[in-house]
Amino acid sequence: MMKTTLSLVLILALVIGCKKDSAFVNNPGASDLHNKPVGASANDLLASSKYTSVKIEVQYMTGFVPDAAALNHLQAVLGSLVHKPSGINIVTREVPASANTVLSVNDVIEIEKNNRTAFTSGSELALYVLYTNGSYSDNNVLGVAYRNTSVVLFGKKIQDNSGGIGQASRTKLVATVSEHEIGHLLGLVDIGSPMQSNHKDAAHGNHCNNSSCLMYYASETSDILGFLVTGNIPSFDANCVTDLHANGGL
Ligand SMILES: [Zn+2]
Ligand SMILES: [Zn+2]
Repeated sequence: MMKTTLSLVLILALVIGCKKDSAFVNNPGASDLHNKPVGASANDLLASSKYTSVKIEVQYMTGFVPDAAALNHLQAVLGSLVHKPSGINIVTREVPASANTVLSVNDVIEIEKNNRTAFTSGSELALYVLYTNGSYSDNNVLGVAYRNTSVVLFGKKIQDNSGGIGQASRTKLVATVSEHEIGHLLGLVDIGSPMQSNHKDAAHGNHCNNSSCLMYYASETSDILGFLVTGNIPSFDANCVTDLHANGGL
């Protein structure tokens, strides 16, 4: 009886284990490289010792093409921070719109699982950016970094709040939110790139305490909207740049 129960437990454990391993059906062999927590690949992203180039796959839902100038800005900003002698490449691809217009992180993970095609292999590290036709379950949030190489931008929320009369430009908002979320993948703040001085905003998790820094918490919420009407796209402040540099960045 005892033995039977044990076997059953073992079989169940194996089934669950297999399920987890094949979480990314598009590239099951590489699943361990992109199923890690946010910040776990910060050094791989910043330094050139393992990976000499980065490919960013941006998938957008039908009708929600992300602003091209914003993606160029993202590419330039990253280029100034990470050691990637073979370059940073952005590829965009349309994916079907989601029927669900309010998305949870679990929904986003499922969408990534069904659509992502770029995976880390050889000397190239791959990132995934999803730009959705929906909003987040927390309606003030414009973007979320949810795994070591994955971020989501809530396109509907971004588009409703930019590009119109009296609103921030689309370019500024998409650049701010995408660069902020990828800043988390780079290990900011204190989530993979150790702090060289204390500048974490303890009340807001892994964010910077400098209200003019890109990694200030407001950069990923609707709190940034008013600022961006006249202000420029925020950049990483000296404390954040120091952390990136110390963890292998330029
Ligand atoms: Zn954030
Ligand atoms: Zn900062």
